[in-house]
Amino acid sequence: MTDFPRTNWSKSFRYQFRNCIRPTSIDALCDAVRSATKIKVLGSGHSFNAIADGDVAVVLNAMPFAPEIGDDGKKVSIAGHATYGDLARFLHLHGLAVHNLASLPHISIAGAIATATHGSGNLNGNLATAVCGLEFVGGDGRIIRVERTDPDFDGMLVHLGALGVVTRVTLDVQPAFQVRQNVYEGLSWSTLLDNLDEIFAAGYSVSVFTGWGDEAGQIWVKATTDEGTHSIRGATPAAVKRHPIIGLDPVNATDQLGEPGLWSDRLPHFRIGFMPSSGEEIQSEFHVPRRHAVAALEALVAVRHSFSHLIQAGEFRTVGADRLWMSPQYQRDTLSIHFTWRRDAAAVDQAVSQIEAALAPYEALPHWGKVFSARDLSEHYPMASAFKKVRERMDPERKFWNEWLDRIIG
Ligand SMILES: Cc1cc2nc3c(=O)[nH]c(=O)nc-3n(C[C@H](O)[C@H](O)[C@H](O)COP(=O)(O)OP(=O)(O)OC[C@H]3O[C@@H](n4cnc5c(N)ncnc54)[C@H](O)[C@@H]3O)c2cc1C
Repeated sequence: MTDFPRTNWSKSFRYQFRNCIRPTSIDALCDAVRSATKIKVLGSGHSFNAIADGDVAVVLNAMPFAPEIGDDGKKVSIAGHATYGDLARFLHLHGLAVHNLASLPHISIAGAIATATHGSGNLNGNLATAVCGLEFVGGDGRIIRVERTDPDFDGMLVHLGALGVVTRVTLDVQPAFQVRQNVYEGLSWSTLLDNLDEIFAAGYSVSVFTGWGDEAGQIWVKATTDEGTHSIRGATPAAVKRHPIIGLDPVNATDQLGEPGLWSDRLPHFRIGFMPSSGEEIQSEFHVPRRHAVAALEALVAVRHSFSHLIQAGEFRTVGADRLWMSPQYQRDTLSIHFTWRRDAAAVDQAVSQIEAALAPYEALPHWGKVFSARDLSEHYPMASAFKKVRERMDPERKFWNEWLDRIIG
């Protein structure tokens, strides 16, 4: 097939694919995997590095989603290539919700969990923590189904695209809930650093947006309508709607000013059907344990002048600890420090190296789907060798492995 994906979503990364397969059924997919030597599933292409790159791309968008609610009403099963927006539309029909969402609903579920994609909230694990069952097509073209009782299950959720094709995902669901979003402005660095825990406890999901300028910036509080109102010290409520990137049209952002709305219309920052973020960008993100959060931010504030000219938006979020082997939140609550950069790869690479140097004392781990310069990360993941054993079993011929994985986890 000649029509195949050339770049990621923001055109900041050029894929090396020579060919693309678009199976229309599970049987066709299994046959394609069986006869392949090297193959790589491409989700919605929202990652910024070579994690999804390869020789032959598999794109699943000609396959059905076939969503189903479990008999107990507490689970939903859907195709892995469905986006969170597709999932939300189906869950609305049943008055159900998932626990959290990333900043955008445009990403595929299987691609998001592959990289430990997360939203915010002290008690909210990353999106993979909601997954209670997976169906893969393994390297030999056979279907493998796993669920929470499987001893290796915790190693298969943040799968890095290395274990096979994720064809179905089963997720825990809960009754739909309403959320109010309010933005507070004028936050100083000293108020943020002196009150970090209090600020991130102000609602179900809290983000701090910064331009890395003289002031820290804005707090975005997403509180469930069951939560009481928290007062925010040292920042004033915005009188008009905002976009996370200063100067962009807030029409692309989810509703604010305290207007209650469905979980799926408030937990992401960006509305489905609208351009998320700026589109012309590169992203990086580093996760530090909560106990180092203030020191890590202080270290970056001290060097911010070396990178602030490249920033479109910076964001801090909290993510709850989990038990997922390849998750940056493995056994640690984290603060996530995110950078939306101008699309200038050479300058960004330099800035990222400076940031990594500043964060080196604080056990920072990069987001699997964004730009970083570290090489072998496996020494920072205590369960990495167990993950590689699972990979050996699922894909002994390393059909889903690529050069990037070789460099990053060996
Ligand atoms: C505007 C924007 C906003 C973002 N916001 C957030 C955020 O709020 N929080 C956050 O943590 N991250 C965020 N990200 C990063 C994004 O969530 C991750 O990069 C995520 O992996 C993207 O999913 P995808 O479907 O595009 O995956 P891709 O980039 O297509 O692929 C990622 C990996 O998943 C594998 N994969 C994809 N589908 C399958 C499948 N069906 N079976 C097997 N392997 C598969 C690929 O092979 C690859 O290894 C954002 C990115 C963008 C561009």
